Parts: sequence; structure tokens; C-alpha cells
Amino acid sequence: GSVFAHVVKAPEDPILGVTVAYNKDPSPVKVNLGVGAYRTEEGKPLVLNVVRRAEQMLVNDPSRVKEYLPITGLADFNKLSAKLIFGSDSPAIQENRVATVQCLSGTGSLRVGSEFLARHYSERTIYIPQPTWGNHPKVFTLAGLSVKTYRYYDPATRGLNFQGLLEDLSSAPSGAIVLLHACAHNPTGVDPTLDQWEQIRQLMRSKGLLPFFDSAYQGFASGSLDADAQSVRIFVADGGECLTAQSYAKNMGLYGERVGALSIVCSSADVAVRVESQLKLVIRPMYSNPPIHGASIVATILKDRALFHEWTIELKAMADRIISMRQLLFDALRARGTPGDWSHIIKQIGMFTFTGLNREQVAFMTQEYHIYMTSDGRISMAGLSSKTVPHLADAIHAAVT
Ligand code: PMP
Repeated sequence: GSVFAHVVKAPEDPILGVTVAYNKDPSPVKVNLGVGAYRTEEGKPLVLNVVRRAEQMLVNDPSRVKEYLPITGLADFNKLSAKLIFGSDSPAIQENRVATVQCLSGTGSLRVGSEFLARHYSERTIYIPQPTWGNHPKVFTLAGLSVKTYRYYDPATRGLNFQGLLEDLSSAPSGAIVLLHACAHNPTGVDPTLDQWEQIRQLMRSKGLLPFFDSAYQGFASGSLDADAQSVRIFVADGGECLTAQSYAKNMGLYGERVGALSIVCSSADVAVRVESQLKLVIRPMYSNPPIHGASIVATILKDRALFHEWTIELKAMADRIISMRQLLFDALRARGTPGDWSHIIKQIGMFTFTGLNREQVAFMTQEYHIYMTSDGRISMAGLSSKTVPHLADAIHAAVT
């Protein structure tokens, strides 16, 4: 017998498990719209040209070695990442009030940030939007925070439940942490307007709620890095404190390199130094220090004017292709006379459309059309192409009629 004989088989991850099921399906018409990974019009993963160039430069530089990075990661990468999200003219950066550490992509940044909060912040409750990325509650709970939700999405309008959001944040205990998606909310594709962000900011600051931004899609939503960072920047501009978890998985296509950063904006440079010293105590027993390759790619691109410019063009092309898929799908459903209002497909932004299809309809589409997606009806627009849109539209049409 095994000492592990009592171990029960765990269910697949609700998102990554979709890919497992997809890989097992022999059908030639199968489409994977589960995981949020960008695909080209040919359905292939994309390595950005600018990433290839940066990697070439790294390979050809004989001074590069494979030594350990410091616990906090690559210093250049950290500085440039803070500039990217807060803006190059950010007073918080100029006043050295930002503690930034390189982490294992967005997930690792969220985990390190929440472990720090669980140890050093008095109000250990975090409010997350309903719904949110499925990994959020798990990350925060395991870090030692207690998780509550605030209303976010209104199924009736397939838009933002702004009134519900304000009410729930108003009744949160003062000092509570609030998880905010910086842009391109996952899974709904519904973001507050800039005016609504401003109202959220005022409410949160007046109640002393601590913002924790999850920025997994900067530049991917609108195609503009600055526009997608506006929500974060209005909070930093008021001089208050916040946390930000950044991921380069989507916007640089560095998914498997696991490159990200956690920044904690503090009230003074002195606090930031002490906060950074404690972040090191969180990181050291977890994984000692982060990997060097991906962060070197990002730093190479961010610090070179020409490479940076090339990146913004490639990023915009990815964002634009996703936006054009929205239009194609919307038009295809219209052309089929599919019952219902599908305008949310073109109104929602970012990688995903929250279709409004229910669990049974999703199961039907997988069974009959080999379309793989999460059971909440979320589809990754980045996995679609003009060749697969008609098949998806047929499937949706059949599922709702
Ligand atoms: N936050 C959100 C909202 C996400 O959608 C994702 C990726 N699916 C992440 C964080 C983290 O991704 P990663 O760890 O790959 O950067």
C-alpha cells in the first residue's frame, strides 16, 4: 500500500482543465476558447518580433551570465515596470515612494502582495468583484486574507452594476483591501468608465479602503498602454497608497516566462524602504529569487526607444485583431438572425467576451460543435480567427434556438 493511498483525485482547474479536454478531442474542427492566450489568424501562438530581437541581443552579449538575481529581481526591470504602469512622470516614482519587486508573472505578484498584507496590514479582508478571475479567491485565501465579494456585473444589462458596486464598497469595513482589475475585467470584459473610476476613487479614499490593482492586460484592452493604465494613475495621482500586480504574459506574449512585478506605492520613501525589506522576507522562503531570462527581455525592450516603439505597434496589432473578431462574431450572429441582443460582444473589451450562455448551452456547444470554453460562458476572443468565427456563430445559434 501507499502512504498516499487516501489521496483523492482533485478536479482539473476550471480554466486550464478546458485545454486538457480540448487536447483529448480528435475532432478537426475543435476550437479552444478557454484559456486567455493570444493566437494569430492562423490559430498559432505568437512570439512578438520585438521579443525575438531582444532575445537575440541577450544571446549575443558575452557579458551576460546566469548568476542569481537579488531577491527583489532585476533592478532595471523593476524601475521600468513601475514607470510603465504609473507613467514616466509619476510623482510617486520621482519621490522614491514605490517599492517594486520582480515576481512570477501576475499570479506571483498577487501572491507576494497578499502574503505581505496578511503579515503587515491590519484589515485582513479583501473584497473581490463578483465575478472575477477564478484564481483570485484561492490566491488570497491561501495567503491568509479573508475574501468577500462586491457586486460588479449585472447579467440583465451585461454591463456594470455600478450602483451595487458603490453600495457594497460603502458598507465594507474601513481599511478593507479592494481588488480592482486595472482594465479589461476578466471574465466580463466590462470596465468602469473614467468618470465611474473617479467616483470609485473618491469613495475608497474617503473610507480608507486600500486599492490592490491587478493589471494583467495593460495595452491589450485598447491598444494603448497609457489609456489602459488610467484607472491606476488616478489613484496614484491623489497621493494615496496602493498595490499593483503587473503581468507581461499577455501584453508581451511572455506567458511561460513568468514575468511580472509587484509595486507598493507608499506615503513616503522611508516607508517604501521598510516595505521592500519585508517583501524580501516574504519572497526568500518561497522561491529565493526570480528567474532572469524573461525579466531581461522586458528590460531590454522597455529601455530602448526603438524596441519600445516596435512593441507598442505589435501590441496594438494584437488588440486590433481581437477587436475585429468581436465585430465579425457580432455580424455573424446578426446574419443568422440569432435571437437575443448580442451587442455586448462589441461593447465588452479585452481578451474575453462574457457571452451570457449558460452551463447547459456551453456543454451543448462542446458536445456538438467541439467548442471549448469555461462553463460560465466566457470565450477568449484572442483564440478566434475569421476561419473559426462562422463555426462558433453556428454553435451559438444552435445553442440558443
Ligand atoms: N489576473 C488576471 C485577471 C488574469 O486574467 C490573469 C491571467 N489569466 C492573471 C492575473 C495572471 O496571469 P499570469 O500569472 O499568467 O501573469
